[in-house]
Amino acid sequence: MSQTAVPTTDATLLIDGTWRSAGNVFDVVDPATLEVIGQAADAGPEEALEAIAAADRAFRTWRTSAAEDRAGHLRAAAVRIRERQDELADLLSRENGKPLAEARGEVLASARMLDWAAEEGRRANGRVTPPSANGPGLVLKVPVGPVLAIAPWNFPASMLVRKLGLALAAGAVIIAKPAEQTPLIATALVRILQETGLPAGVLQQITTSRPAETVGALLADRRLRKISFTGSTEVGLGLVRATGTHLRRISLEMGGHSPAIVFADADLEAAATGVAAAKFANAGQSCTAINRLYVHRDVHDEFLALLLDKAAALTVGRGTAPGTTIGPLIDEAGLAKVEAHVQDAVSRGAKAVVGGHRCTPDDPLLQGAFFEPTVLTGVDDSMLISSEETFGPVLPVYVFDTDDEAIEQANSTEYGLAAYVYAAALSRVWQAIDGLDFGIIGMNEPAPVRPELPFGGMKNSGQDREGGSEGIEAYLETKSVAIRL
Ligand code: NAP
Repeated sequence: MSQTAVPTTDATLLIDGTWRSAGNVFDVVDPATLEVIGQAADAGPEEALEAIAAADRAFRTWRTSAAEDRAGHLRAAAVRIRERQDELADLLSRENGKPLAEARGEVLASARMLDWAAEEGRRANGRVTPPSANGPGLVLKVPVGPVLAIAPWNFPASMLVRKLGLALAAGAVIIAKPAEQTPLIATALVRILQETGLPAGVLQQITTSRPAETVGALLADRRLRKISFTGSTEVGLGLVRATGTHLRRISLEMGGHSPAIVFADADLEAAATGVAAAKFANAGQSCTAINRLYVHRDVHDEFLALLLDKAAALTVGRGTAPGTTIGPLIDEAGLAKVEAHVQDAVSRGAKAVVGGHRCTPDDPLLQGAFFEPTVLTGVDDSMLISSEETFGPVLPVYVFDTDDEAIEQANSTEYGLAAYVYAAALSRVWQAIDGLDFGIIGMNEPAPVRPELPFGGMKNSGQDREGGSEGIEAYLETKSVAIRL
């Protein structure tokens, strides 16, 4: 299972078209081995302010650049990402811990998102209104201005690239702020984009170990016109509260607490495969990961047996090791939360029918925060896991009797990101699609994320959408022109 890590260092910031050091660096750790695998440049408020000044300058010309040329940069970067997919997937797997196959999937999804953004940028049309008594009107779609893109560690490639692609396609300029745990894959991807020949200041990156201070300098600067944030609800709502005197657009992709419903007429084998995938991918650290599973009483026992087979077939290990299907959690704090949820549930009467503990492999290179794939039965709404995002490989199973009850239970959360439904009858399928208060629904589909579909949540899971035709809107302002002839 062990494999020696190759040190990877890219301790540079991209500011005003130049890669440069920040003076200080912070370590990047392989979450499987706890070895330091590289350093990242540690920017502070000073560098952030240099970046916003450069962005403001660059925006003056980028905003009027040909949409076709912008698309060319994005398409070229997508080609390069596909060419370098092995190396990028390896880096992503080592930095984040996810299995290589998942890392490759994320890298390729990033390339597809750039292709989608390139196409959408060429269709960001305004419109002409019918004449009023005085004359016609125009509705112009104009780029929003300098954008700050804040990305999380759990999908450090695709979450960042989606923002970069759509913003650049729209004619906006962008400062990337990757997560502290995963700056290296972000830097590799920003390098690829920059090497397509983007003008200075159009794309910049600041990595930092002091996010509040460094981002705070940007929040206080009125030249920053937009924030696109993906991360926890706590930090996202903090950014909203920190708006201060400069009101600006803010898109939020935040936490989730996704339900899955297995109705009585579902294809149980397909449902078990799908539920296991949507729960255990990325070691359960996906914003769209299933956090509550509702199974109809009539099929509960049969379904549970199938599900346990799927859980038993998972292999915990280092992401880069052949055969691994579940990597480590990102850090000890993540594992402590998972453990707390399991202990709380068990203390209130739940049963871990599989798993339930942290893994303690003998291998000295597997010292990270590994947790067994876990299925809990006998859960109820009094347990922490029923309302808080677990962000780990733990699946609580609830039983329901009527379809209405399942939908009502599924909706009983402050979050509204993703929901999954396994059913066959068209009327039942439609009742679920119509009744679930979630931005994304996987209908017999465990992977409901596609460039063509808007991605985002309702309620405390966020606002605005990324992807689909809606995605580019987040980087456009609307200007109305009333013409008197
Ligand atoms: P996080 O702690 O909120 O961090 C997200 C980003 O915000 C990181 O870049 C982080 O920088 C930065 N940040 C932290 N404190 C900040 C502050 N005071 N001001 C400005 N930026 C700050 O979330 P995470 O732990 O990385 O990611 C997991 C969460 O993201 C989960 O809740 C998950 O559901 C959510 N998520 C949502 C989506 C979605 O599309 N809805 C997608 C993926 C993940 P540092 O790394 O330096 O702390």
